Amino acid sequence: MTPVYLDNNATTRVADEVIEAMLPYFTELYGNPSSMHTFGGQVAQKIQTARQQVASLLGAASSDEILFTSCGTESDAAAVHAALRAFPERKHLITSTVEHPAIKALFEKLAKEGFRITTIPVDTRGRLNMDLLEKSLDEDTAIVSMMWANNETGTLFPVEAIGKLCREKGILFHTDAVQAVGKIPMDLKTMPIDLLSLSGHKLHAPKGVGALYIRKGTPFTPYIVGGHQEHGRRAGTENVASIIGLGRACLMAEEKMAEENTRVRAMRDRLEKELLSRIPKCFVNGDLDARLPNTCSISFEYIEGEAILLMMNQYGICASSGSACTSGSLEPSHVLRAMGVPHTAAHGTIRFSLSIYNTEAEMDTVIEKLPPIVKRLRDMSPFWSDS
Ligand SMILES: *Cc1c(COP(=O)(O)O)cnc(C)c1O
Repeated sequence: MTPVYLDNNATTRVADEVIEAMLPYFTELYGNPSSMHTFGGQVAQKIQTARQQVASLLGAASSDEILFTSCGTESDAAAVHAALRAFPERKHLITSTVEHPAIKALFEKLAKEGFRITTIPVDTRGRLNMDLLEKSLDEDTAIVSMMWANNETGTLFPVEAIGKLCREKGILFHTDAVQAVGKIPMDLKTMPIDLLSLSGHKLHAPKGVGALYIRKGTPFTPYIVGGHQEHGRRAGTENVASIIGLGRACLMAEEKMAEENTRVRAMRDRLEKELLSRIPKCFVNGDLDARLPNTCSISFEYIEGEAILLMMNQYGICASSGSACTSGSLEPSHVLRAMGVPHTAAHGTIRFSLSIYNTEAEMDTVIEKLPPIVKRLRDMSPFWSDS
């Protein structure tokens, strides 16, 4: 059975054109880009091309602002590390309550090490409390890290406004844009963003490659030291093929951006509308006015998301639930809890995340299969009554 893959915020299929671009770097072009000979040197040139392709998708002023890393998580860690080194006397860090574990766990670790962390809350639609952010910025703040697009709900934070506040106070602003890159247009030349993380496997490049945008002039201390790769900003022999693949994926994302925001968005909107009209007691999570085009988080009251996932799995439908299994008990995700989604609904939350490879026929499958699944589960639920 070919899957109906609606879990693209977890990872994406590597695009055919990306694989094709990568293959020569495993076979005839296996040289080390740091070598003196032409055989290796030509590979270094291709890495430069990939760097330009990433810079172009981001609208960065220069390809020198792009640093290749091993993943989104490493990019996040390297950005925060650089800020702490740039301002060793500053002991205050600011983030939000809805960040990906890559930032959430890092800040929790730094809190244990003695840093003062301010975690800015969101409202029921996942919108950031900007007043509180503004009041929290002080001379002791080393960095503000706020995601651009939420991985669970697709909600977009106003990164331009956040960056502006930070810049007025001389505070570095990092954004985890792993879910946003390739899905919405960006022009970093004109935006007050100092550091930005992205990851290959969320935009049809392979797993295990990412990048960090470092605005020219931003102080940066390497997170990993050793050889002189990446202009001395990240040691370690480059993951050449994957870097070439990431560049190619960025080129593709530029070409497909319009389709993402028209065809994909329309499919998502139809899926959402049909499910809401066919299934009672369900609602969409997130900021419907500022949301990724591909993401749909729906809460079905009085049932368990894991049960829905298992039953959809029998039809080959792949999605995610809004719970994380912590210490044996299924706790609703910190994102839904931060938004104040009631427990009875948070437990029954499903995230559908689409890509350019999805079809209307696949939406039809979900629209047909899901309503009876929800009904069956509710008929078994002690908390549900039709009346
Ligand atoms: C997937 C994801 C990450 C982590 O990226 P990896 O490349 O898997 O380390 C970080 N932040 C967000 C918002 C993500 O969705």
